[in-house]
Amino acid sequence: MSERDLLMIPGPVEFDPEVLRALGAKTASHVAPEFISTFGRALKRLREVCLAPSAQPFVVAGSGTLAMELAVANLVEPGERALVVNTGYFSDRMATLFERYGAEVVQVRCAPGEVPDVAEVERVLAGGRFKVMTATHVDTSTGVLAPVEALVKAAGRHGVLSVVDGVCATAGETFHQEAWGADVYLTASQKALGVPPGLALLTVSPRALDAWRSRRTPVRSLYADFGEWLPIMEAYEAGRAAYFATPAVNLVCALEVSLGQILREGMEARFARHRRVAHAFRAAWRALGLRMLPVSESVAAHTLSALYYPEGVDAALLGRVREQGVVLAGGLHPQLKARYFRVGHMNVVGPGEVLATVGAVERALAAAGHRAEPGAAVAAVQAELLAAR
Ligand SMILES: *Cc1c(COP(=O)(O)O)cnc(C)c1O
Repeated sequence: MSERDLLMIPGPVEFDPEVLRALGAKTASHVAPEFISTFGRALKRLREVCLAPSAQPFVVAGSGTLAMELAVANLVEPGERALVVNTGYFSDRMATLFERYGAEVVQVRCAPGEVPDVAEVERVLAGGRFKVMTATHVDTSTGVLAPVEALVKAAGRHGVLSVVDGVCATAGETFHQEAWGADVYLTASQKALGVPPGLALLTVSPRALDAWRSRRTPVRSLYADFGEWLPIMEAYEAGRAAYFATPAVNLVCALEVSLGQILREGMEARFARHRRVAHAFRAAWRALGLRMLPVSESVAAHTLSALYYPEGVDAALLGRVREQGVVLAGGLHPQLKARYFRVGHMNVVGPGEVLATVGAVERALAAAGHRAEPGAAVAAVQAELLAAR
């Protein structure tokens, strides 16, 4: 990959140079006063980004999967029941985690590209003494945006803790953690939060922390135990150093910069920009005759596009797009993997990235023999962007 190529996959994404400079700066001691205040600020900012003023933030070295594991390991005990609202690949992983931690798992599923039926979820919740329900905000394997507000509120009505996997959504898709009553919002650094891979992040409601405090059995994982991390997060936020395991110092510095940029843009403005970008991409896909994997635009995510290859075109298309300077991702859903590809559009995406990506896809499709009017997709993007101003 050339340094000038555009990385348009569903994470890692393109990062702001100021964030990358923070990452490349001289590493401070994890107990240095400047680092303590940087970490403390990052924690406060994470709370603001998740719109969760009373939540407890956790930032731990690891990937998004660790954030999922922290939620599961701390919130269920062996024999307790967990409901997984399953939209695809990462919901399967959530179910596997619950099983690994001894929970009894019930799943509400839907066909790939569809969203789960909230009424059915509500019926299952009513029938079942669940401790926790999980949903994937944006399913990265299908490009589907789940109705998380309705799901979280349904869980709340039944006294069930709600965990939302926001790895492909946080800071890109509208989410009001506290107003909606979500107990855990979990994410990773490398997607819409705009920081290279390596951090697992969670914001945990007081109710979820109480549930963890009233456990009868110890958390089975040491590294994932809230009990080890809570005093550390509290200390850094209070301006004191504390040690359990060495924080990813440079990543935390980069995170503090990125969260600052996100808050300067403003959450509602940032969500709206991701919607505008998604709508511009959708105009291009229509012009190119590409069908999206989500069954309708109303359930399609704004942080990535999942698109079927057109007739006569296969995964070799991605190599052709890369020759045009843009890196895209293949399919991920086990049932459909070979039939579709994905375009990530998170973090620092604007008109320039959209036009460059659409132009590259248009040229690659033409080279692959797919017929479309040259420039039609780019024109459709321009029309959409000009109309959205
Ligand atoms: C990327 C992703 C994950 C996994 O994150 P890793 O950092 O790869 O471990 C989990 N859930 C969703 C929805 C994702 O998009």
